[in-house]
Parts: sequence; C-alpha cells; structure tokens
Amino acid sequence: MNNLKMNIRQIALITVFLVAATAVMSQNAADTVFATVSMDAPHTHYYQVEMDFNSNGEQNFEVKMPVWTPGYYWILNFAKNVTSLSATDEKGNPLQFLKTDLNTWKIEPGDAKRVKISYDVYAYERSVADPWLDDGRAFIQPTVVFMFSQELIQMPVVLTVNPYKEWSTVTTGLDCLNEKEHIYRAEDFDVLYDSPILAGNMEILSFEVDGVTYTISMENPVEFDHETYISDFKKIVKSATSLMGDTPHSYYAFLIMDQGFGGLEHRNSMAVFSNSNYDVTNRAGYKSWLAFIAQEFFHLYNVKRIRPIELGLFDYCGENLTNMLWVAEGLTVYYEYMVLNRAGLMSQQEVLDAYSKTIATFENANGRKYLTARQASYDTWLNFFNWNNHTDNTTISYYDIGNALGMLLDLKIRHETDGEKSLEDVMRNIYNDFHKNKTAVILMMNFAKFVKILPGVRWRRFFIMLK
Ligand SMILES: [Zn+2]
Repeated sequence: MNNLKMNIRQIALITVFLVAATAVMSQNAADTVFATVSMDAPHTHYYQVEMDFNSNGEQNFEVKMPVWTPGYYWILNFAKNVTSLSATDEKGNPLQFLKTDLNTWKIEPGDAKRVKISYDVYAYERSVADPWLDDGRAFIQPTVVFMFSQELIQMPVVLTVNPYKEWSTVTTGLDCLNEKEHIYRAEDFDVLYDSPILAGNMEILSFEVDGVTYTISMENPVEFDHETYISDFKKIVKSATSLMGDTPHSYYAFLIMDQGFGGLEHRNSMAVFSNSNYDVTNRAGYKSWLAFIAQEFFHLYNVKRIRPIELGLFDYCGENLTNMLWVAEGLTVYYEYMVLNRAGLMSQQEVLDAYSKTIATFENANGRKYLTARQASYDTWLNFFNWNNHTDNTTISYYDIGNALGMLLDLKIRHETDGEKSLEDVMRNIYNDFHKNKTAVILMMNFAKFVKILPGVRWRRFFIMLK
C-alpha cells in the first residue's frame, strides 16, 4: 500500500513538472500585463492608473473593475470610483470603447497589438476594503484600483508604484523587482488582488523568524516600546507557525494604518487599522490589539489555505456565497486566543474570559432565534457589513457562534481521545492534505481531465490547485 502510494505520488510529481513546463512554454511573454499607479496630488484623493494589456487579436477586448474585495463579503461596486477612462493602442492612437455594464468597458482594438487604458480612481473611504489617498498615506487595495481582463487574469502583472514625491516608504507583500523604482511582480491577478500596498512616510520595523523576514509598516505610531512591540509580534508569529507546523510564505508584511475601519487577511500580508491603539501601558487595549493581529495572522492558514471551496477561484464580479464562514472566521477567533496563550501573551484566565464573552454575545443575540451558523455565513453579503437595527434584531455573528462551535469541537475531540488529539490535529491534517500535499490525488484527477480535453484545458483551475 505504501509503495503504491509512493508511485502515485512520484507519477503525480512528474506530471506536475511536465504540465507546468508546457504551461510556461505556452505562456507568451507578451501576455504580461503592465500596470502603473501614480499619486502626484494626494490631497485630491485621486490615483492615476495606467494599464497595458496584450490585445491577443481580440475584436472586442473587455476590462472590468472588481465589485468586491475577498475577505470583505460585500458588494462595493468599485467602478463607482473610476473616472476619465481612455484607451489607446501601442502607438497612442485612441481606441473606441463602450460601457456594457456597471463594471465592464468593451474596447475595440482593431489591429492594435496592445490595449492601453488610463483612468483615475477616487480614493477617500476609510475601510480596509476601500481605497484611500491623502497627504498622510496611500492605501492601495488592488481590487479597488486595478482593472482586469478575464482572458488575461492568470497572466503575470508587473506593477510600478510612483509614490508621492514627499514620501519615502512603499510596503507590500508582492515580490519586488526593483526596490528603488518600486517595481513589483505578481504571478497573476489573484496574487495582485491579494497584495495591498501602503505608501507614505511610515515607521518601518522588521524582524526574522525561521529565516523569513517580517516587515511592520506603521502610520503615525504613538510613543511605544519598539523592543516589546517587535518581540510580541515575533511571539505571535512563532506561536501560530509552530501550532500549524509550517510557514507558508517567504516574506510577510504587516500594513498598519492609523484611523479607519477593519482588518483584512492576505496571502502574505495583512492590512489593519490601529486607531492609535499602540498604548502598551493600557494592558486590556494592547491585548485586544494583539488578538486582532493574531486573528489576521492565523488567517494565513484558516481561509487563505484551509478554505471553503467557494473562496478560492474568486468571481470578482459578484457574490461568492459560502455557508462556511463560521469555520473560516469563527475557528480563527478560537485560535487567535490559543495563539496568544501559547505565545505567553495571554493567561489561561484571560483566554477563558475572552471565550465566555463571545459565548455571552451569541447567547444574548436575538438573531439566534432566526439564523443558524450556516445561514448567517451565507447571508453575510446581505447586511453583515452594513449593520443596522434590523441586522441587530435578526442576525448573529458567525465569528461568535463559530468560536463557540470551534471550542465545542475541540473539547469533544479531547474528551473522546482522552486528551490525545485535539482540533489542532484536524486543522493540521486539513492543511497538509488539502493545501500542502494535495498534489497526488488532485493532480491525477486533473491530468486525466487535461488529456481528455486538450487543448481546452482549464489552466486557471489547474494552477489554482497547485498553489
Ligand atoms: Zn477574520
């Protein structure tokens, strides 16, 4: 049985290399998408964006603006911020275009080899899923600023960021091609859209864990003890990575803005608002700040790698419905406190207090008469991010119920196995089987599909599975 497994895995690995090599050869260098974002006058709150696509001889070339940002499950219609769009060919000759729905522009390339577009983006919303630009900072959530062409969505993107002339720092999780010129590369639009950028005159701190560099980029930090701060972040990273037994990234960036709303997890970065909450002398405030950081960091595993199937190959033009947010968010809340406890940053009593607070919030929510954890997950797109009195009366938070369910699952496993196993084993197994070592089974399935439907192979789905 073991030998057979080995053989299947070996065949699968050879298959990966062959298929990947074919894909690399078939990927034309001309398919690289070039994007530039400039911010010459930040006080106007407008970004200037230029994008340059291979027309591929298409008679109708469509560009689209995403309508939402993964992780923030609400349609925000980012096309509302776009203005002054123009399109030209590679020689600068104007191209005709027409808007065909709220977020789509259909361009007529004619004989053009390249389609170049330029437009401005209004950026003056203080949420982590929205764009921001003022004299203090540029927060570029790429789903909000860069358009895509569905045909080229799996193509690499070379991005040049031109920060305001008075600014000295640009921080992002993207691979850097040229640090001085702020040129970055994303292997496709999923990576681009999952890599926010923070520019300004930020305070930069950095540290290393297991040979991986972590950068903290902070806006307007109040007086604080740098050593404690770095050491606490380091403890969170060590605690989370050792709990899961793996580090899925080779670089990580903490983008910490001052005034604003929310926090979002990304593939090798997080974007969060501190609202000046760096006060290490206020123990309770600082603990909840660290819990916030621990949650976004643990999302590296739960939601970014262990994820509901609906939250992977994203549709950027509509709702991506799932009834599993109670796992994606709720279990992450459960583990944020575990991570802090193991890091020595929260006592057992503090952790139990945090759990009982969440359970009380759930038990006191009128909405539990109306919604299950699954229904609350599914309906999040309706009004969870647009909370009002009606939501208050009829909805529950899948964060709270998910945390409680996570705890019950954990206790049940510990009880049934006399403390031998826990929910952590489940998390690690899911992570290893479905993210890390998934090659064997899934690739064999896809290889069969590849042979059968060549050349109409669904490259995008195939490569997403390899990530
Ligand atoms: Zn979360």
